[in-house]
Amino acid sequence: MNSPDSCWLDTGPHWTGGRTPLPARTGIAVLGAGVMGSTLAYWLGRAGQQPLVLERNPSPAMGSSGRNAGRMIQGGNAQHALAVEKFGHAEALAIYRATLVNRDLMREVTAREGLDAARVPTAKLDLADSEDEALELKRTAEALRADGIDAEWLDLPEAREVFGATLPDTVLGGLHRPDQDAVHSVAYVRGIAAAAQRHGARFSFGVTVTSVERAPGDDGWLVTTDAGQVVAEQVVVALNAWTPRVIPELAPFITPVRGQLVQTAPVPFRIPQWGLDRGLVYGGQTPDGSLLIGGLRNTVPGRDEGIEVPPGSNTPAFDQPLADRLAAVLPALVPEAAGVPVTRAWSGVMAFTPDRCPLVGARPGTEGLWVMAAFNGHGMPYSQVVPQQLAERILGGRGDGIPAAFDPARFLGAGAP
Ligand SMILES: Cc1cc2nc3c(=O)[nH]c(=O)nc-3n(C[C@H](O)[C@H](O)[C@H](O)COP(=O)(O)OP(=O)(O)OC[C@H]3O[C@@H](n4cnc5c(N)ncnc54)[C@H](O)[C@@H]3O)c2cc1C
Repeated sequence: MNSPDSCWLDTGPHWTGGRTPLPARTGIAVLGAGVMGSTLAYWLGRAGQQPLVLERNPSPAMGSSGRNAGRMIQGGNAQHALAVEKFGHAEALAIYRATLVNRDLMREVTAREGLDAARVPTAKLDLADSEDEALELKRTAEALRADGIDAEWLDLPEAREVFGATLPDTVLGGLHRPDQDAVHSVAYVRGIAAAAQRHGARFSFGVTVTSVERAPGDDGWLVTTDAGQVVAEQVVVALNAWTPRVIPELAPFITPVRGQLVQTAPVPFRIPQWGLDRGLVYGGQTPDGSLLIGGLRNTVPGRDEGIEVPPGSNTPAFDQPLADRLAAVLPALVPEAAGVPVTRAWSGVMAFTPDRCPLVGARPGTEGLWVMAAFNGHGMPYSQVVPQQLAERILGGRGDGIPAAFDPARFLGAGAP
């Protein structure tokens, strides 16, 4: 079944930014106008460049970025204590710190550009309903505090207070992290894209990129599209799960994964962003007060991971039984929401890597070809810092705010063709 549009796509500002005809040559071409490509264009524009953004859809944010839950949850994909075990302390901290820098940058950029992204201050409450998970979250609270990051474990009575609604007795407590943000995803991305254009970026919508190869004579990169070809000195591939279509050697390391969300009518109370069962079911609240519930991919093994996104489509097929199961989670977790109608549900595609870290940096062994993709269902908390730092690298700077764990060389080695 085709997915309905998200609430963001339905209510977001319309912005198409015109259709720059393809020039024969350009300095920097950015492929994809999701949150990553649009924000990169913004930072390149602010640095005095005129990047050319090529996007298949008629507007920004029609892929994953306009179909997410709008949550900017700090930290990487793994809880901090587990990230320390997996990557070592320095790298785990670099990942977490990047998202804190992101929080500040996002607030600064939205204010500076007068961008109405309907930002809502919120908190994150990771709930545990097993002793194992509670232990993991308590360890994370300690590890974060040891690193000077505001976090605490709350037993059930305190967790209920922070949650602002009744939690069932099966919940043991939760990891509480204040000072988070949620935004209207489409307003955020289209606002950034419009700001990028004001700073000099050029957008060409309705253009599908089919390949990127070395230009004849080793003169930059030949970008072939259904609207013609352009030679770019540098190319950044920000195509989420579609990235392997232009960098095929990344196919073994990028798994397309379906995500689905259901949305209720607005409720008269506010709850923080929450996660349960190690984030496999999660939720949040839109600025207008409706509740969002997503996840449960673990209940349909093999049906969501590795799913096909048909060519020309923005999202995998929508699964009504999964939407029904998501809707059933809510009254059990938040009794106050019992009887509140579900008004909408939709799907989107995420791109997962084997180690759940994004792919950001130079394609190894080549000059001027960059990748910024595969955010493992968690791109928003990197949506300023990663494009800003990558812009710096593209322009010859260090860009060392991008965690080393994100380097594509970890999969491709140094000898890519
Ligand atoms: C249901 C769901 C809920 C989520 N919730 C959250 C959340 O709450 N918080 C969070 O941090 N993350 C969340 N995510 C993940 C988040 O949406 C992504 O990490 C983020 O949007 C990735 O941005 P992007 O720019 O890389 O990808 P996209 O937004 O998908 O952008 C890629 C762009 O490339 C374009 N494109 C593709 N192929 C071509 C081509 N050949 N030529 C030209 N253009 C092309 C697409 O049209 C698209 O616009 C969620 C995802 C889903 C699906």
